[in-house]
Amino acid sequence: MRYSQLFGKTSKTAPTDADSVNAKLLTQGGFIQKEISGVYNYLPLGLRVLNKIQNIVREEMNKIEGQEILMPAMTSEEGWVTTGRNAMDVLFHLKGQGDTNLVLNPTHEEVVTPLVQKYVFSYRDLPMAVYQIQNKFRNEARAKSGLLRGREFNMKDLYSFHTDEADLDRYYEIVKKAYFEIYKRIGLGDITVLTFASGGAFSPFSHEFQTLNENGEDTIHLCKKCKVAINKEIIDTQKTCPECGNDKLEAVKATEVGNIFKLRTKFSEAFKFYYSDQNGQDKIVEMGCFGFGPSRTMGTIVEACHDDKGIIWPKSVAPYQVHLVGLDLFEENIKTQAEKIYQDLLDKNIEVLFDDRSDVTAGAKFADADLIGNPIRLVISKRSLENGGVEFKNRNKEKSEILPLDSFLNKIIAK
Ligand code: ATP
Ligand code: MG
Repeated sequence: MRYSQLFGKTSKTAPTDADSVNAKLLTQGGFIQKEISGVYNYLPLGLRVLNKIQNIVREEMNKIEGQEILMPAMTSEEGWVTTGRNAMDVLFHLKGQGDTNLVLNPTHEEVVTPLVQKYVFSYRDLPMAVYQIQNKFRNEARAKSGLLRGREFNMKDLYSFHTDEADLDRYYEIVKKAYFEIYKRIGLGDITVLTFASGGAFSPFSHEFQTLNENGEDTIHLCKKCKVAINKEIIDTQKTCPECGNDKLEAVKATEVGNIFKLRTKFSEAFKFYYSDQNGQDKIVEMGCFGFGPSRTMGTIVEACHDDKGIIWPKSVAPYQVHLVGLDLFEENIKTQAEKIYQDLLDKNIEVLFDDRSDVTAGAKFADADLIGNPIRLVISKRSLENGGVEFKNRNKEKSEILPLDSFLNKIIAK
């Protein structure tokens, strides 16, 4: 992509209403643009990041036999009346034709349970799991902190269905592992901890995945040894590490990026969802639900991975792998070399953002490269050519090096 053609540009100044690092840097970097409070447009750079996070999540859900579906965001209020959750504060209500009562779903138990009920009748149909990646709507009391707490936000929600509790327990552990793999792959593995939270009426615990960062909204109580934590809802009843019994837990700030839950029979009872077992007897279905917030995760990555110059994207979710800065492009020879490097990268399927502007200073181009935060910066200029090639620098390192023009590709592919 040529920067000169890119829709959505960086801006020199931070938005005046940005209340968080992620809102500031993502807006200034041309990734997102606020529509209304808690609702954002994703510009091309931002959508590339969101898509990458979603695709990692999708791959890991597919590996554990999750089948992707897409449910409607807007449905009748009926399911919500059935479960008694239609009075929830965050639920957006609307009126359809003929005065029908509709809702914008903040989560999908009320939709998925009756949907799966249409296809699952026998023990032979179980276990099964479906998931979707979709926008949710919640009328949050205070939308804030950029992508961290939106009124419209992106969620992956997986729902699993089982013949009995033991099978739900088995699958729950499988999903937990898949979540750890996701956080590892998106570059948050080292700072994301399993956090014990209250389990509701049926189960002793649910689990949150909390990413440690100074600006996090939540306070969790961390066992540094086990890297597990307890959230503030249950710290009064559980004062020691659930894994090792350690009572020296440390209060730290974090952001909830995922939440997994044994629903047990809460929703299957509400919808009278039974299956027939091997003896032909009706048994209640056991359910699990597993939420992950791709948009909040995108904001959290920025909160955790930045410096005073801008974002430092982990390689797996960066909008582009290479930020190619062309300087002195008014010189025909340099322009030709820069275009050739750009083409070589494209030919090797290396994602590249080429700053091909001819009306911008070198300083402004470097500032933009740091703000946008792609992992590798390449500079081709009069000086780099005099020094023998193209200048290579990692976003998260100070030192740069000159790579010869005939071999720079190997180095980039190896990185
Ligand atoms: P919170 O306690 O932060 O309000 P929640 O527990 O209500 O979140 P869940 O219903 O568990 O959220 O949703 C699953 C995931 O969706 C969360 O772990 C989070 O990553 C994401 N998420 C929830 N609410 C929001 C929101 N308002 N904006 C962005 N992401 C959200
Ligand atoms: Mg939660």
